[in-house]
Amino acid sequence: MNLFTSWLKDQKDDQKPQTNPQIKPSAQDLVPQPKSAHPKSAPQPRSAPQHKTSSQSTHPRQHQARHGSRPPQHRSHRGGPQPKRHAFSNEPSSSTHPIPALGPNKLRVITLGGLEEVGKNSIAFEYGDDIIIVDMGLQFPDENMHGIDYAVADYGYLKGKEKNIKGIIITHGHLDHIGGIPHVMPKLGLQIPLYCTQLTAALINKRQEETKQKLNINLIKEGEILRLGNFTIDFFRVNHSIPGAVGVFIKSPAGNVVHTGDWKIDLTPVNDEVIDFVKIAEISKQGVLAAFCDSTNASQEGFQLSESAVRNPIEGIFMKSHGRIIVGTFASNLSRIQQIINLAEQYGRKVVPLGRTMTNNIIIARNLKYMKVAPHTLITIQEANKLRPEQVVIVLTGAQGEKNAALMRVAAGEHRFLQIQPDDTVLFSSSIVPGNEQSVGQLMDRIYRLGAKAVNYRMMEVHAGGHAKAEDTKLLLRLLKPKYFIPIEGNHYLLRRHAEIAEKVGYKKHNIIIPDNGSVIEFDKQGNATMLKERAPHNLVAIDGLGMGDVGETVLNDRHEMAQDGVFVVTLVVDKNKPELRAVPDVITRGFIYVRGSEQLLTEARNLAKETFVKNSKLYPQNIPELKNIIQSTLSQFLFKQTEREPMVLPMIVQV
Ligand SMILES: [Zn+2]
Repeated sequence: MNLFTSWLKDQKDDQKPQTNPQIKPSAQDLVPQPKSAHPKSAPQPRSAPQHKTSSQSTHPRQHQARHGSRPPQHRSHRGGPQPKRHAFSNEPSSSTHPIPALGPNKLRVITLGGLEEVGKNSIAFEYGDDIIIVDMGLQFPDENMHGIDYAVADYGYLKGKEKNIKGIIITHGHLDHIGGIPHVMPKLGLQIPLYCTQLTAALINKRQEETKQKLNINLIKEGEILRLGNFTIDFFRVNHSIPGAVGVFIKSPAGNVVHTGDWKIDLTPVNDEVIDFVKIAEISKQGVLAAFCDSTNASQEGFQLSESAVRNPIEGIFMKSHGRIIVGTFASNLSRIQQIINLAEQYGRKVVPLGRTMTNNIIIARNLKYMKVAPHTLITIQEANKLRPEQVVIVLTGAQGEKNAALMRVAAGEHRFLQIQPDDTVLFSSSIVPGNEQSVGQLMDRIYRLGAKAVNYRMMEVHAGGHAKAEDTKLLLRLLKPKYFIPIEGNHYLLRRHAEIAEKVGYKKHNIIIPDNGSVIEFDKQGNATMLKERAPHNLVAIDGLGMGDVGETVLNDRHEMAQDGVFVVTLVVDKNKPELRAVPDVITRGFIYVRGSEQLLTEARNLAKETFVKNSKLYPQNIPELKNIIQSTLSQFLFKQTEREPMVLPMIVQV
């Protein structure tokens, strides 16, 4: 099923009120499936049972409607602010209004993703019959996206226009810019050319090894200008936390626009060249109608620090430590990893890259000469375990307290070859992404309990991020002088704060456009911009295990509900010819109550299910869905009354 049909199917399933009465439950429906160790290791036939579950779910809205006299929500944790849900239907559903056809001589920009989150960056530019896309990222799930691996932008706008896509430009090799490629490209067309710098290409190709797809990747070289249909595209070098990052200058007959990608100014970069101010000035001379600018750190005061500036505080740790130094960082922060390697070489230590992505990234960057690593610096953990502690540095992922990352497994004593020892110093060498503070705190607790020392960036004097801050942004705007300023790449509040920075250098509100995911901005030949009231599709497209787009709002809400109060499955075995129960209804619950000690409650629930069936047996077998609804609603009310909990109640009718 392709992306768009699966997206459409998901939409339809969300609205479908009932289960198909023809479908008899399979064995899988009857037994709540144990959560497999990892969705990838045990691929399940996902769509069928999930959609079934979805359509039977007690949606908060349906729930209320069905219950009528719903018990008051007086429990403390429900009284407070509700957690963020992915209730797309609460947003203005402008995507149901068709977007008007693109008029002549107009440049249209569709901000597909990365406008309401940090991640899944992707923007499409359209003129006439030509479309180009800048970046194709993924987003890591937040705590409400139960069980999904990650999300990509919604490319529904491009449905039917695939043949118009002349090229895809990737600004740099971070996952929030390249991560969607293996999932989205097969839907758009694998033959569409991708353009990026050498390191970015290598990182994309590494991820492709897990697929059988053959991509059409083309390297962009310094000074090269691309012509893609009506677009002429030029690039300018920027600094970031990974080498090979570029900004994009897109010329169209309706005006020229700049897309910064992720960028910062680094006058003393570690393994990269300095941002190309000369090129930016030249671009400015050609006239810039609009600049789409990275908002990630733009609201922070001052200039971003150079990567070189963190050398001293990290060197302090190398000077003081007598044990091993274990550095947690992003595997994609190649500039920081380079600094650690430089210091290790200077202080006579060997470096162990722990984990596949960390090792791959270092090897790729070294082979392309984006990283300098002496021939014998890198060793394996097994080799390191034979050395004295003061001869060893280990770099690994997990400085954000991520559950499955190496550092967490090491601290939990679950790593085969690496255990924390007293005298180890663990350096958390990346800023904590908001929301991760608690898990980082718990991780540091563990490290201290094991007798080691933990140091995070806040305990050091300086921290260098990878994104432009307020003063960098002002400098760029003064240089580029775009007519329109359009903040991108960040949550809405980050875009807003970024806009305030632009106002400080004289931008008037009518020259600032703040888009959302799916916004459509048009520029006419006179150089005027408008944001249409219609929005392109902008649903959450989840990648979960092997599925893409089959987990939508309903599935996520189901998971949310199950995570809150568990699930309660009641199975009724009924004679297929007459409305007669063949056995006492059976109940299976998970995450709702402790079954032992609740026998009374379960017996009453079974009896209630039976009574309800008997009372409404005239609905059998003509209207099984309605019968299920009644049983579900009766049991939900009963369980709430008894326990003040709201498990997801799933009645199953098995005909024998
Ligand atoms: Zn980046």
